[in-house]
Amino acid sequence: MKFGGTSVADLDRIRNVARHVKREVDAGHQVAVIVSAMAGATNQLVEWCRAAATLHDAREYDAVVASGEQVTAGLLAIVLQSVGVTARSWQGWQIPILTTNAHGGARIDAIDGAELIRRFAERGEVAVIAGFQGLHKDTRRVTTLGRGGSDTSAVAIAAAVAADRCDIYTDVDGVYTSDPRVVPRARRLDRISYEEMLEFASLGAKVLQVRSVELGMVHNVRIFVRSSFEKPEDIDPHDAPPGTLICSEEEIVEQHVVTGIAFSKDEAQISIRRVEDKPGVAAAIFGPLAEANINVDMIVQNVSGDGKTTDLTFTVPAPDFQRANDVLARSKGSIGYARLDGATDIAKVSVIGIGMRSHVGVAARAFRALADRGINIRAITTSEIKFSLLIDAAYTELAVRTLHSLYGLDK
Ligand code: ADP
Ligand code: ASP
Ligand code: MG
Repeated sequence: MKFGGTSVADLDRIRNVARHVKREVDAGHQVAVIVSAMAGATNQLVEWCRAAATLHDAREYDAVVASGEQVTAGLLAIVLQSVGVTARSWQGWQIPILTTNAHGGARIDAIDGAELIRRFAERGEVAVIAGFQGLHKDTRRVTTLGRGGSDTSAVAIAAAVAADRCDIYTDVDGVYTSDPRVVPRARRLDRISYEEMLEFASLGAKVLQVRSVELGMVHNVRIFVRSSFEKPEDIDPHDAPPGTLICSEEEIVEQHVVTGIAFSKDEAQISIRRVEDKPGVAAAIFGPLAEANINVDMIVQNVSGDGKTTDLTFTVPAPDFQRANDVLARSKGSIGYARLDGATDIAKVSVIGIGMRSHVGVAARAFRALADRGINIRAITTSEIKFSLLIDAAYTELAVRTLHSLYGLDK
């Protein structure tokens, strides 16, 4: 059972979580609980690091931001004990959850779940595990798994103890055809395939961290997204509650061409104007960006205004925008261009569905519908099961709702 930030936002909510846990324990299930920091806590910790020094040691950043989860794990263990459930808290390093040393975005390497299983079997002790944190296997420093990383902790623990299910309790009762905060007519999906969920998560639906879905897919963990806000007493632990199961494609009966619409405003656009159109230019541009660890996403090349040279437009994550500009300015000599243009008020809207593998013309309908609304498309990318469109940020909501209706997803 994993509980996110809003689900543990204060002591009342933590008491509510304890009742969910007690219900499952009383029903005879063996459970491990993974908790996030209380809502807003991690943001505050990140902000303190930034205020302390804009350029700071990533290892110390992790020492600071990992602390939010420590508090919740301890509090939940206290509350569980007070309602008669045997429980103890675990920090990432105590289990240990061993990770790479990519501080701020480490990947889990190994978890030994044997001790957790033994303690539950011998004394019915519920493990309350601080999500988001790990330990670098060589340096023994505390690491964190990247924002939203408690989902990944939960799926990794589920795999390590061979859990029947990994329930992700959050502030929505499942995965919807689009973010229900933006599309009031979004519908809850009963099931979604790992592959689609992976696209959903990487294209902006923050309901699950991307890495948690990858892990679930590799280890075949049944991930179930459900609400923590339902009254624990109203739930029969032997009934199927409302929620969304992330599972393999074969288990999905109902097939749609389009499964959902995701969007992200966390991108920035860079255009390099009047580059000489000759072999090696793309390498001169994207090589230095890759070396700087900047992830380039959509790429469009077209003829410049002068008809002789070429313009290259691409997107980078918004937090890397300034750095990307600096890298390109430094490489101006080797690339050879007239001017750099940038835009941060843009959004990427993506249409996802495994049905696209076998249907043609799905994207063409979107182009028409957006044109009818006067929405200009700045760039397009496609893959087998999705396509993404880059538009002005001001039109995000309109575009998402338009596409949601267009593909028959409205409830
Ligand atoms: P937690 O704190 O429990 O980890 P998050 O805030 O990380 O929760 O994720 C849940 C949020 O994800 C929801 O409140 C919702 O606004 C957002 N979200 C975005 N896209 C979707 C989607 N397609 N289905 C459900 N929720 C979505
Ligand atoms: N507390 C961390 C964050 O806010 C991890 C998580 O909630 O999943 O990113
Ligand atoms: Mg989350």
